[in-house]
Amino acid sequence: MSQRCVIPDAFKFAADGRRLEGTIPIAECSRLADMTTSAEGDIAYVLGSSQGVDGKWQLELEVIGMLRLVCQRCLTEMPWPFELASTLLLVRPGEEIPEEELEDETRDAIEVQPDLEVKQLVEDEILLAVPIVPRHEQCEIPQPSGGVTKESPFAALSGLKKPGSVQ
Ligand SMILES: [Zn+2]
Repeated sequence: MSQRCVIPDAFKFAADGRRLEGTIPIAECSRLADMTTSAEGDIAYVLGSSQGVDGKWQLELEVIGMLRLVCQRCLTEMPWPFELASTLLLVRPGEEIPEEELEDETRDAIEVQPDLEVKQLVEDEILLAVPIVPRHEQCEIPQPSGGVTKESPFAALSGLKKPGSVQ
């Protein structure tokens, strides 16, 4: 039985120096489960906090696990083990995120909502890191079993042109 884990106030969580750790079944993360061949397994996480050099509160999130992605070249399973660590700058709702924060690659800014759901944070972090087009380092395109017409890349382009639409 897993329980829904929420942080009522992330600023208080950080200021109190609290720490949370646990596991989340991949099957409960629908956005991740959708891209896997099997949603078996768990994601382990550790959530703590820190203060940036500027004194601002941050969450420190570590997630570890493995997703069974589908290779987009050979269309078979591709295990993708991950171990991610990220720093999330806490920003009050409505507060503007300064330009330099958006460009800062050492941390991401998150707008703190009341009852921040840990599963949501974990899922977001993984989605940011997951390969957009997963592919084995070495594999072969499956041979067509015959009867497959190879489409010219220009066919798709010409389909975009709508004759007569340009005045
Ligand atoms: Zn492959």
